[in-house]
Amino acid sequence: MTARVLIVEDEAPLAELLRYNLEAEGFRVSHAESGEEAEIMVAEERPDLVLLDWMLPQVSGIELCRRLRTKPETRAIPIVMLTARGEEGDRIRGLSTGADDYVVKPFSLPELMARVKAILRRAAPDRMSEQLKAGDIELDRIAHRVTRGLREVRLGPTEFRLLEFLMESPGRVLSRTQLLDGVWGRDAFVDERTVDVHIGRLRKALIRGKERDPIRTVRGAGYVFGERGVN
Ligand code: CA
Repeated sequence: MTARVLIVEDEAPLAELLRYNLEAEGFRVSHAESGEEAEIMVAEERPDLVLLDWMLPQVSGIELCRRLRTKPETRAIPIVMLTARGEEGDRIRGLSTGADDYVVKPFSLPELMARVKAILRRAAPDRMSEQLKAGDIELDRIAHRVTRGLREVRLGPTEFRLLEFLMESPGRVLSRTQLLDGVWGRDAFVDERTVDVHIGRLRKALIRGKERDPIRTVRGAGYVFGERGVN
């Protein structure tokens, strides 16, 4: 599971608790402390789900939810509202603003995780599926195994994550910065050329004989995986 979840929560201990539990489930997690920061991060990172606290300084959770729902590019992102309010009226208001689900604090973590997963299974089945497939290449996230046709492809951990990340967005050009953020993480001190080195290793492992190169280098832009189908 490599779905991306954005936590929007101004209370640091709660945000940390959520991050810890989501990462333990295999999610990629980012955190915004305010509605303004969240708007920027949603635009930049395109999370698969937003966990949104109702009570935020300045721009409230409800207002942010409304803003995300009005923009075409963020309209479809699932939103789970977190709130201390449990009144029926608030619940209805939260859901009518466009939240997909609504969890009242203090909530049970297993229940919240179950809801997040249920929503993601519907909204982003590719990111939640255990296997990714493109032509004759198959990647098993649970077994950490990659095959091409009948052959097992042996990959180091970085090449595995790189392939997984590429296979999640087939046909889309991914910049070196996007690959760095997605595979190495935002805080990693690695050069953009590192991406090229690992792409080279990945290609070497994936391609035997006359097999087609599933990755295309786009000059000045980045890399794209499986755009014409892989076989
Ligand atoms: Ca709060």
